[in-house]
Amino acid sequence: MGTVLAFHAHPDDEVLLTGGTLALLAAQGHRVVLVVACDGVMGEATGARGRARLDELEASAAVLGVARVVHLGYADSGHGPVLYPDPPDRQRFARADADEAAGRLAGLLRGEGADILLSYDRQGGYGHRDHIRVHEVGARAAELAGTPRLLEATVPREPIIRWFAVLRRLRLLRRYDADTARNAGTPRAEITHRLDVRRFARHKRAALAAHRSQVYGGGRSARLFRVLSRLPVPLFALLLGREWFAEQPVGHAARRAQPEADQVTGSSPGGPPAGG
Ligand SMILES: [Zn+2]
Repeated sequence: MGTVLAFHAHPDDEVLLTGGTLALLAAQGHRVVLVVACDGVMGEATGARGRARLDELEASAAVLGVARVVHLGYADSGHGPVLYPDPPDRQRFARADADEAAGRLAGLLRGEGADILLSYDRQGGYGHRDHIRVHEVGARAAELAGTPRLLEATVPREPIIRWFAVLRRLRLLRRYDADTARNAGTPRAEITHRLDVRRFARHKRAALAAHRSQVYGGGRSARLFRVLSRLPVPLFALLLGREWFAEQPVGHAARRAQPEADQVTGSSPGGPPAGG
């Protein structure tokens, strides 16, 4: 039996990208450790809401069979054009020192004796700056810790481009979204692991529902989450019963990850974009 450490940006990311895989690994008897960088709250200091999202994360992790959950303590950086100032009590992940974050993750990898690190692809799926940072920090941490294997969670690019083209023709998307789709995920030829996790669709759906503030709140993805968490299990399995990874040689991130240049404009954090 081995130990797998899954590194994610925000609470709820663990479900959609890797929920079935984590449940499958745990069911096979592997130790699964979940590390999230951010608390999933935009535009506020920590306090009750941040704590609530981490509680939801614990509930989701319990459903998936995760043995341990760690929060690195960064704040969300948001997905809009503006990187907002840091809240008073902590740093936004995109602004954090990548080497320091990688050092902390490497410490966890070493302490757990992890055999595999699950991280994100280079685009962070769809370009969220916290997800891109997970990719950078994950690759660096695997190298520092000498973790044997690095698998980056991703989605196949070709079907995304097709779907976005359809949505655009239906005038449900803007130009910006179509451009994002062109670079989203990973070309099929570079995907190394395609997991059938339909057997764990029930776990994945329950883990998604555990993120109650996302499902019942007014956030950007609330409607999608509500629809998904109410789907009959077979339909949920059809839509979300596959997960993809691209294995990377450890050490491929030899170039140092640089902190994103500050794009702070204005000092009011009022109405920032939703986290991812
Ligand atoms: Zn996210």
